[in-house]
Amino acid sequence: MPTDQGPISLGMYISGAYVPSASGRTLEVRNPKNGALVGTVAEGDAADIETAVKAAEAAFPVWSAMTGAERGDIMHRAAAILKARLPEIVGIEVDQIGRPLREMTAQLSRLPEWFSYFGAVARTHEDTVPPFGTGYLNYTRRVPLGVVGHVTPWNHPLLILTKKVAPSMAAGNTMVVKPSELAPITPLLLGEVFREAGVPDGVYNVVPGFGGTAGLALTSHPRIKKIDLTGGTETGKAVAAIAGKNLTKVAAELGGKASVVVFEDTDVERAVSATLFASFIAAGQTCVQGARLLVHRSIHDRVVARLVERTKNIRIGDPKNMATLMGPLVSARQREITERYVAIGLAEGATLAVGGKRPEGAQYEGGFFHEPTIFTNVTNDMRIAQEEIFGPVVCVIPFDTEEEAIAIANGTEFGLAMSVWTRDITRAHRVAHRMQAGIVWINDHHRIDPASPWGGFKMSGIGRENGLVAFEEYTQIQNVIVNLSDAPFDWYAEDGTVKRYS
Ligand code: NDP
Repeated sequence: MPTDQGPISLGMYISGAYVPSASGRTLEVRNPKNGALVGTVAEGDAADIETAVKAAEAAFPVWSAMTGAERGDIMHRAAAILKARLPEIVGIEVDQIGRPLREMTAQLSRLPEWFSYFGAVARTHEDTVPPFGTGYLNYTRRVPLGVVGHVTPWNHPLLILTKKVAPSMAAGNTMVVKPSELAPITPLLLGEVFREAGVPDGVYNVVPGFGGTAGLALTSHPRIKKIDLTGGTETGKAVAAIAGKNLTKVAAELGGKASVVVFEDTDVERAVSATLFASFIAAGQTCVQGARLLVHRSIHDRVVARLVERTKNIRIGDPKNMATLMGPLVSARQREITERYVAIGLAEGATLAVGGKRPEGAQYEGGFFHEPTIFTNVTNDMRIAQEEIFGPVVCVIPFDTEEEAIAIANGTEFGLAMSVWTRDITRAHRVAHRMQAGIVWINDHHRIDPASPWGGFKMSGIGRENGLVAFEEYTQIQNVIVNLSDAPFDWYAEDGTVKRYS
């Protein structure tokens, strides 16, 4: 498909059609492995956001009036169509962001589950009948919010978008998406999937563009009922402040600095493969990256030695090759940030155990490659241990006691995810319960499921994706209180009876 046959060209996706932006401007998507043109898409701004919002408003009465079962059927069809188109979509995702085919094949194969799960939620969600008192029927209704806005990043372009679109669609909302300007193609193509599945035109609209223009126009739009953003913590704060002026509801999935906490009863090989998986998937460009390895001092040296050895064997190369284990970083900027933090780590006195530079060889020229990197002798006050790098850099910090491990793990401003590695079942849960993080894995990392709430504590965000909570957060609740009695009620009648007031 497109990138194998030459660059793709797409307009904005509005009301079920690809259309040029009002300004006629376009933006180029370039392959981070070599700078080749992947495609050109329309670049939208405030005028286009307004057009998209109007399209979504026009579709809202139709979509929201359908029963949950009808929406669910359409979403199940979307799941099947998406599944059939995955090979083509995976290839484009790889070309946009440089993540290896091996990773994106595995990740995107899960996406249809989100539409199946939330389609089932749409069909089966039940409202409540809270107790109220004799003579009354009291029930709640979940009402869709209206037009909602999704602002998404580049690191998992379709996964993160799907986490937002599926619950909002299931709940009966219509939407405008502002994808990252680095990865707008697959979000645009999702429009075709929905169209084929029977999603009415205007339910799903995509306006590619920049954060400062299209993103700002969407997040400050007075008729948008909810903004759901995934991005950096600073972006989240800025967007929440702007949206707050319109009392627009905000969900924000933000940055992280996850710890992989390895206790002394963990097998060394297991600890090493855990860290490699937690830390180097997506070349470290994930919000739940195991950016900090906290390892019990008694096994520290053995773990580090083996980790260094195995890190040297991570095959860096062409992400389109199924044998490649690490591709380029997404952009020159992301590699510069990584390189800056390597320099900061060295200046702070950490020891560079492996990596720390660009790989050498003709095949890496023209791409944003960086070696997987491990720092040892790191202390928790160092900037490399505290700040989100979003690159293939891991900081190893030894600990002596459970108490100390918990304190170090919780000792950052972030609180998205942690993993705890131990065979001691009581310690595993005890530690998990004290982790200030929205997601805790025990003897695992990175696992996600449409049914399981995803989101952060502290500066890692507000609101949740996935699960019933995500569906419910895309609704507002209406309480209907029915007086079952036809008996006259007159508060102002001075007849000496005690009347019910509330
Ligand atoms: P950014 O915060 O730079 O951007 C996220 C999105 O917001 C982009 O679409 C961007 O547009 C847009 N944006 C930027 N500024 C504004 C603004 N003022 N108003 C409206 N929209 C704006 O993040 P990245 O794309 O660089 O993604 C990496 C970040 O995302 C990391 O911090 C990571 O931790 C976080 N993340 C969090 C996850 C979670 O689940 N908690 C999951 C994945 C990533 P533009 O196209 O111009 O960049």
